[in-house]
Amino acid sequence: MGHRSARSKGKEPALVALYNSTRWKQLRSIQLRAHPLCQCPHCQEGTVRVRIANVVDHTVPHRGCPDLFFRQDNLMSMAKAGHDRHKQSQERGGKGFKGGCDDHGEPLDPTHWWK
Ligand SMILES: [Zn+2]
Repeated sequence: MGHRSARSKGKEPALVALYNSTRWKQLRSIQLRAHPLCQCPHCQEGTVRVRIANVVDHTVPHRGCPDLFFRQDNLMSMAKAGHDRHKQSQERGGKGFKGGCDDHGEPLDPTHWWK
């Protein structure tokens, strides 16, 4: 399970320096002012859910690279509480039926109304 957690954040001295820099603090406040609502796929900046963003995340993981770290267009406002933006972003609607039918022409999905 190659799931990267937020654990690495703040451990590396180089990262701590990036997060503590004045440049980052400015960038962060500009981002939160420009986008005060959570921009994760679940909220979509108020389109789906209105949640106040209180953290700024990187769209492309910077892995300590200052170029990515300080890119304004690589930033995303996020509400810290509650959700993991990676986990369910690929989730499908869950209402669909299995496609196709068997040799007898019956739908393969047991929950289909034909059954
Ligand atoms: Zn959100």
